[in-house]
Amino acid sequence: MKLSYYALIVLQLFVMVFASPSAAKSPQKASIQAIIDQAYHKYKSDNSGKNADYIPALAKVDSSYFGLALVTTDGKVYTKGDINQAFSIQSISKVFTLSLAMEQQGQQVILDKVGVNATGLPFNSVTAIELNTARSVNPLVNAGAIATVSLLDGNGKTKWSTLSSWYDQFANRKLSVLKDVYQSESDTNGHNRAIAELLTSYNRFYGDVDLNLDIYTRQCSVAVNAKDLAIMASVFANNGIHPITNKRLMKSNNVSRVLAVMSTAGLYENSGQWAYQVGLPAKSGVGGGIIAVAPGEFSIAVFSPRLDQAGNSIRAQKAIDYIAEQLNSNIF
Ligand code: GLN
Repeated sequence: MKLSYYALIVLQLFVMVFASPSAAKSPQKASIQAIIDQAYHKYKSDNSGKNADYIPALAKVDSSYFGLALVTTDGKVYTKGDINQAFSIQSISKVFTLSLAMEQQGQQVILDKVGVNATGLPFNSVTAIELNTARSVNPLVNAGAIATVSLLDGNGKTKWSTLSSWYDQFANRKLSVLKDVYQSESDTNGHNRAIAELLTSYNRFYGDVDLNLDIYTRQCSVAVNAKDLAIMASVFANNGIHPITNKRLMKSNNVSRVLAVMSTAGLYENSGQWAYQVGLPAKSGVGGGIIAVAPGEFSIAVFSPRLDQAGNSIRAQKAIDYIAEQLNSNIF
Protein backbone atom coordinates (compact mmCIF):
# COMPACT_ATOMS: atom_id res chain seq x y z
CA MET A 1 0.00 0.00 0.00
CA LYS A 2 2.75 2.38 1.01
CA LEU A 3 4.76 1.42 -2.05
CA SER A 4 1.93 2.20 -4.47
CA TYR A 5 1.47 5.63 -2.77
CA TYR A 6 5.10 6.50 -3.50
CA ALA A 7 4.79 5.08 -6.99
CA LEU A 8 1.87 7.45 -7.61
CA ILE A 9 3.86 10.47 -6.44
CA VAL A 10 6.79 9.50 -8.67
CA LEU A 11 4.41 9.09 -11.61
CA GLN A 12 2.85 12.51 -10.95
CA LEU A 13 6.28 14.16 -10.83
CA PHE A 14 7.21 12.46 -14.09
CA VAL A 15 4.06 13.79 -15.77
CA MET A 16 4.67 17.33 -14.44
CA VAL A 17 8.25 17.47 -15.63
CA PHE A 18 8.09 15.69 -18.96
CA ALA A 19 4.55 16.01 -20.22
CA SER A 20 3.38 19.52 -19.28
CA PRO A 21 2.54 21.84 -22.19
CA SER A 22 5.31 24.24 -21.16
CA ALA A 23 7.88 21.45 -21.34
CA ALA A 24 6.63 20.67 -24.83
CA LYS A 25 6.91 24.34 -25.85
CA SER A 26 10.43 25.03 -24.56
CA PRO A 27 12.85 23.24 -26.83
CA GLN A 28 16.35 22.75 -25.50
CA LYS A 29 19.23 24.87 -26.66
CA ALA A 30 20.63 22.13 -28.90
CA SER A 31 17.33 21.61 -30.68
CA ILE A 32 16.82 25.32 -31.44
CA GLN A 33 20.24 25.48 -33.07
CA ALA A 34 19.56 22.25 -34.96
CA ILE A 35 16.25 23.60 -36.30
CA ILE A 36 17.90 26.82 -37.50
CA ASP A 37 20.67 24.83 -39.18
CA GLN A 38 18.05 22.63 -40.87
CA ALA A 39 16.13 25.67 -42.16
CA TYR A 40 19.38 27.08 -43.57
CA HIS A 41 20.32 23.87 -45.42
CA LYS A 42 16.76 23.20 -46.59
CA TYR A 43 16.44 26.54 -48.42
CA LYS A 44 20.04 27.53 -49.10
CA SER A 45 19.88 26.60 -52.78
CA ASP A 46 16.42 28.12 -53.39
CA ASN A 47 17.06 30.82 -56.01
CA SER A 48 13.48 31.87 -56.66
CA GLY A 49 12.44 35.52 -56.80
CA LYS A 50 14.61 38.58 -57.35
CA ASN A 51 16.01 41.60 -55.56
CA ALA A 52 13.93 44.77 -55.38
CA ASP A 53 15.09 47.07 -58.16
CA TYR A 54 12.80 50.11 -57.95
CA ILE A 55 15.40 51.47 -55.51
CA PRO A 56 18.51 51.08 -57.72
CA ALA A 57 20.92 50.41 -54.82
CA LEU A 58 18.93 47.34 -53.76
CA ALA A 59 19.32 45.68 -57.16
CA LYS A 60 23.10 45.67 -56.61
CA VAL A 61 23.02 43.66 -53.36
CA ASP A 62 24.41 40.10 -53.68
CA SER A 63 21.26 37.94 -53.90
CA SER A 64 22.93 34.88 -52.39
CA TYR A 65 23.09 36.21 -48.81
CA PHE A 66 21.15 34.08 -46.34
CA GLY A 67 21.32 34.84 -42.61
CA LEU A 68 19.12 33.55 -39.80
CA ALA A 69 18.86 34.57 -36.13
CA LEU A 70 16.59 33.66 -33.25
CA VAL A 71 16.53 35.35 -29.83
CA THR A 72 14.66 33.86 -26.88
CA THR A 73 12.92 35.95 -24.24
CA ASP A 74 15.64 34.95 -21.79
CA GLY A 75 18.19 36.63 -24.06
CA LYS A 76 19.85 33.65 -25.78
CA VAL A 77 20.91 34.25 -29.38
CA TYR A 78 21.13 31.53 -32.07
CA THR A 79 22.45 32.26 -35.58
CA LYS A 80 23.34 30.66 -38.89
CA GLY A 81 24.65 31.84 -42.27
CA ASP A 82 25.48 35.42 -43.34
CA ILE A 83 24.83 36.85 -39.96
CA ASN A 84 27.14 39.86 -40.01
CA GLN A 85 26.10 41.10 -43.44
CA ALA A 86 24.59 44.59 -43.24
CA PHE A 87 21.50 45.40 -45.30
CA SER A 88 18.85 48.13 -45.25
CA ILE A 89 16.02 47.60 -42.78
CA GLN A 90 13.46 49.13 -45.21
CA SER A 91 9.83 48.57 -44.19
CA ILE A 92 10.73 46.66 -41.03
CA SER A 93 11.58 50.13 -39.67
CA LYS A 94 7.85 50.88 -39.77
CA VAL A 95 7.12 48.77 -36.68
CA PHE A 96 9.76 50.56 -34.62
CA THR A 97 8.59 54.00 -35.73
CA LEU A 98 5.01 52.97 -34.97
CA SER A 99 6.18 51.85 -31.52
CA LEU A 100 7.76 55.24 -30.80
CA ALA A 101 4.72 57.14 -32.11
CA MET A 102 2.47 55.03 -29.90
CA GLU A 103 4.66 55.57 -26.84
CA GLN A 104 4.72 59.33 -27.51
CA GLN A 105 1.17 59.98 -28.67
CA GLY A 106 -0.86 57.05 -27.33
CA GLN A 107 -2.88 54.36 -29.08
CA GLN A 108 -5.91 56.51 -29.84
CA VAL A 109 -3.92 58.98 -31.94
CA ILE A 110 -2.66 56.17 -34.19
CA LEU A 111 -6.22 54.86 -34.56
CA ASP A 112 -7.72 58.28 -35.29
CA LYS A 113 -5.00 59.89 -37.39
CA VAL A 114 -3.54 56.95 -39.34
CA GLY A 115 -5.86 53.94 -39.05
CA VAL A 116 -5.04 50.28 -38.45
CA ASN A 117 -7.11 48.23 -40.86
CA ALA A 118 -5.27 46.15 -43.42
CA THR A 119 -5.43 47.68 -46.89
CA GLY A 120 -5.11 44.36 -48.74
CA LEU A 121 -3.17 46.31 -51.37
CA PRO A 122 0.51 46.67 -52.27
CA PHE A 123 2.72 48.57 -49.80
CA ASN A 124 3.06 51.65 -52.00
CA SER A 125 -0.59 51.85 -53.01
CA VAL A 126 -2.17 55.22 -53.73
CA THR A 127 -5.49 53.51 -54.41
CA ALA A 128 -5.68 52.48 -50.73
CA ILE A 129 -5.97 56.17 -49.81
CA GLU A 130 -8.56 56.86 -52.49
CA LEU A 131 -10.73 53.82 -51.74
CA ASN A 132 -11.14 54.46 -48.02
CA THR A 133 -13.30 57.50 -47.42
CA ALA A 134 -11.72 58.11 -43.99
CA ARG A 135 -8.39 58.17 -45.95
CA SER A 136 -7.35 55.71 -43.31
CA VAL A 137 -4.39 53.60 -44.22
CA ASN A 138 -2.11 51.61 -41.95
CA PRO A 139 1.21 52.36 -40.20
CA LEU A 140 2.85 49.39 -41.94
CA VAL A 141 2.26 50.49 -45.53
CA ASN A 142 4.07 53.48 -47.04
CA ALA A 143 1.22 56.01 -46.74
CA GLY A 144 0.52 55.29 -43.08
CA ALA A 145 4.20 54.90 -42.26
CA ILE A 146 5.14 58.33 -43.66
CA ALA A 147 2.12 59.82 -41.84
CA THR A 148 3.31 58.12 -38.65
CA VAL A 149 6.71 59.84 -39.00
CA SER A 150 4.83 63.14 -39.32
CA LEU A 151 3.19 62.44 -35.92
CA LEU A 152 6.48 62.08 -34.02
CA ASP A 153 7.50 64.82 -31.60
CA GLY A 154 10.31 67.20 -32.47
CA ASN A 155 11.61 69.37 -35.29
CA GLY A 156 13.71 68.10 -38.20
CA LYS A 157 16.87 67.54 -36.21
CA THR A 158 15.50 66.32 -32.90
CA LYS A 159 12.97 64.04 -34.58
CA TRP A 160 15.69 62.08 -36.37
CA SER A 161 18.00 61.92 -33.36
CA THR A 162 15.15 60.67 -31.13
CA LEU A 163 14.07 58.12 -33.73
CA SER A 164 17.57 56.80 -34.45
CA SER A 165 18.41 56.45 -30.77
CA TRP A 166 15.07 54.61 -30.32
CA TYR A 167 16.23 52.08 -32.95
CA ASP A 168 19.64 51.87 -31.22
CA GLN A 169 18.00 50.95 -27.92
CA PHE A 170 16.17 48.05 -29.57
CA ALA A 171 19.36 46.86 -31.33
CA ASN A 172 21.44 47.43 -28.19
CA ARG A 173 24.13 49.10 -30.32
CA LYS A 174 24.59 52.23 -32.39
CA LEU A 175 23.17 51.70 -35.88
CA SER A 176 24.16 53.75 -38.93
CA VAL A 177 22.54 54.71 -42.23
CA LEU A 178 23.60 53.06 -45.53
CA LYS A 179 24.46 56.22 -47.44
CA ASP A 180 24.19 54.69 -50.92
CA VAL A 181 20.71 53.28 -50.20
CA TYR A 182 19.57 56.57 -48.67
CA GLN A 183 20.87 58.51 -51.68
CA SER A 184 19.41 56.06 -54.16
CA GLU A 185 15.94 56.13 -52.59
CA SER A 186 16.05 59.93 -52.11
CA ASP A 187 16.81 60.33 -55.83
CA THR A 188 13.87 58.12 -56.86
CA ASN A 189 11.29 59.06 -54.23
CA GLY A 190 8.58 60.52 -56.47
CA HIS A 191 5.96 57.92 -55.62
CA ASN A 192 6.29 58.32 -51.84
CA ARG A 193 6.28 62.11 -52.27
CA ALA A 194 3.01 61.84 -54.21
CA ILE A 195 1.55 59.75 -51.38
CA ALA A 196 2.55 62.34 -48.76
CA GLU A 197 1.12 65.20 -50.85
CA LEU A 198 -2.13 63.31 -51.38
CA LEU A 199 -2.47 62.65 -47.64
CA THR A 200 -1.77 66.36 -47.01
CA SER A 201 -4.62 67.26 -49.36
CA TYR A 202 -6.95 65.16 -47.18
CA ASN A 203 -5.58 66.58 -43.90
CA ARG A 204 -4.17 63.16 -43.05
CA PHE A 205 -0.53 64.27 -42.94
CA TYR A 206 0.75 66.08 -39.86
CA GLY A 207 3.81 68.08 -40.82
CA ASP A 208 6.08 69.22 -43.60
CA VAL A 209 6.25 66.79 -46.55
CA ASP A 210 9.95 67.27 -47.41
CA LEU A 211 11.13 66.93 -43.84
CA ASN A 212 9.06 63.88 -42.91
CA LEU A 213 9.67 62.12 -46.22
CA ASP A 214 13.40 62.60 -45.68
CA ILE A 215 13.22 61.08 -42.19
CA TYR A 216 11.16 58.16 -43.53
CA THR A 217 13.75 57.55 -46.28
CA ARG A 218 16.55 57.70 -43.73
CA GLN A 219 14.81 55.24 -41.39
CA CYS A 220 14.38 52.78 -44.29
CA SER A 221 18.13 53.02 -45.03
CA VAL A 222 19.27 52.08 -41.52
CA ALA A 223 21.86 49.29 -41.70
CA VAL A 224 21.15 46.12 -39.74
CA ASN A 225 22.19 42.49 -39.90
CA ALA A 226 19.92 39.52 -39.19
CA LYS A 227 21.16 39.27 -35.62
CA ASP A 228 20.40 42.97 -34.96
CA LEU A 229 16.89 42.51 -36.29
CA ALA A 230 16.19 39.44 -34.16
CA ILE A 231 17.46 41.33 -31.10
CA MET A 232 15.27 44.33 -31.98
CA ALA A 233 12.20 42.12 -32.43
CA SER A 234 12.88 40.27 -29.18
CA VAL A 235 11.60 43.34 -27.29
CA PHE A 236 8.15 42.62 -28.79
CA ALA A 237 8.47 38.91 -27.90
CA ASN A 238 9.31 39.91 -24.33
CA ASN A 239 6.34 42.24 -23.91
CA GLY A 240 8.30 45.50 -24.11
CA ILE A 241 11.28 44.63 -21.91
CA HIS A 242 14.61 44.19 -23.70
CA PRO A 243 15.70 40.57 -23.03
CA ILE A 244 19.38 41.54 -23.10
CA THR A 245 19.47 44.89 -21.28
CA ASN A 246 16.38 44.16 -19.14
CA LYS A 247 15.27 47.72 -19.77
CA ARG A 248 11.57 48.37 -20.40
CA LEU A 249 11.27 50.17 -23.76
CA MET A 250 7.51 49.94 -24.33
CA LYS A 251 4.30 49.65 -22.36
CA SER A 252 3.09 46.09 -22.65
CA ASN A 253 -0.34 47.10 -23.96
CA ASN A 254 1.37 49.04 -26.77
CA VAL A 255 3.31 45.90 -27.71
CA SER A 256 0.07 43.97 -28.18
CA ARG A 257 -1.25 46.71 -30.52
CA VAL A 258 1.91 46.68 -32.61
CA LEU A 259 1.74 42.88 -32.85
CA ALA A 260 -1.92 43.10 -33.90
CA VAL A 261 -1.05 45.40 -36.79
CA MET A 262 1.86 43.14 -37.75
CA SER A 263 -0.52 40.15 -37.81
CA THR A 264 -2.96 41.85 -40.15
CA ALA A 265 -0.64 43.90 -42.36
CA GLY A 266 3.01 42.94 -41.83
CA LEU A 267 3.36 41.17 -45.18
CA TYR A 268 1.16 43.60 -47.13
CA GLU A 269 -1.44 41.97 -49.35
CA ASN A 270 -0.12 38.51 -48.39
CA SER A 271 -0.69 39.03 -44.67
CA GLY A 272 -3.80 36.84 -44.52
CA GLN A 273 -2.04 34.00 -46.25
CA TRP A 274 0.91 34.37 -43.87
CA ALA A 275 -1.33 34.30 -40.77
CA TYR A 276 -3.11 31.25 -42.15
CA GLN A 277 0.11 29.43 -42.96
CA VAL A 278 2.53 30.50 -40.20
CA GLY A 279 0.48 32.15 -37.47
CA LEU A 280 3.10 34.59 -36.19
CA PRO A 281 3.02 38.42 -36.30
CA ALA A 282 5.72 39.42 -38.77
CA LYS A 283 7.08 42.32 -40.81
CA SER A 284 9.00 42.31 -44.07
CA GLY A 285 11.16 44.85 -45.88
CA VAL A 286 12.22 45.09 -49.54
CA GLY A 287 15.86 44.89 -48.41
CA GLY A 288 15.17 41.16 -47.91
CA GLY A 289 14.64 41.01 -44.15
CA ILE A 290 11.65 39.59 -42.28
CA ILE A 291 11.09 39.56 -38.52
CA ALA A 292 8.57 37.31 -36.78
CA VAL A 293 7.52 37.28 -33.13
CA ALA A 294 6.35 34.38 -30.96
CA PRO A 295 4.99 36.34 -27.95
CA GLY A 296 6.52 35.24 -24.67
CA GLU A 297 8.90 32.87 -26.44
CA PHE A 298 11.25 34.22 -29.11
CA SER A 299 11.81 36.39 -32.17
CA ILE A 300 13.26 35.34 -35.52
CA ALA A 301 14.89 37.43 -38.24
CA VAL A 302 15.97 36.16 -41.63
CA PHE A 303 17.78 38.04 -44.40
CA SER A 304 17.69 36.90 -48.03
CA PRO A 305 17.33 39.56 -50.78
CA ARG A 306 15.23 37.74 -53.39
CA LEU A 307 11.57 38.78 -53.13
CA ASP A 308 8.18 37.57 -54.30
CA GLN A 309 5.63 39.70 -56.20
CA ALA A 310 4.41 41.38 -53.00
CA GLY A 311 7.93 42.41 -51.96
CA ASN A 312 8.48 39.76 -49.28
CA SER A 313 11.71 37.73 -49.10
CA ILE A 314 11.03 34.23 -50.37
CA ARG A 315 13.67 32.30 -48.42
CA ALA A 316 12.96 34.32 -45.27
CA GLN A 317 9.29 33.34 -45.45
CA LYS A 318 10.14 29.68 -46.01
CA ALA A 319 12.77 29.56 -43.25
CA ILE A 320 10.50 31.26 -40.70
CA ASP A 321 7.60 29.01 -41.65
CA TYR A 322 9.83 25.96 -41.10
CA ILE A 323 11.27 27.17 -37.78
CA ALA A 324 7.86 28.24 -36.43
CA GLU A 325 6.36 24.88 -37.35
CA GLN A 326 9.21 22.92 -35.76
CA LEU A 327 8.97 24.99 -32.58
CA ASN A 328 5.20 24.60 -32.49
CA SER A 329 4.73 28.33 -32.12
CA ASN A 330 1.61 29.22 -34.17
CA ILE A 331 -0.23 31.68 -31.90
CA PHE A 332 -3.62 30.69 -33.24
N1 GLN B 1 11.77 52.36 -48.50
C1 GLN B 1 10.82 51.50 -49.16
C2 GLN B 1 9.73 52.32 -49.81
O1 GLN B 1 9.33 53.31 -49.27
C3 GLN B 1 10.25 50.53 -48.18
C4 GLN B 1 9.27 49.58 -48.81
C5 GLN B 1 9.30 48.20 -48.26
O2 GLN B 1 10.25 47.74 -47.63
N2 GLN B 1 8.26 47.46 -48.55
O3 GLN B 1 9.27 51.98 -50.86
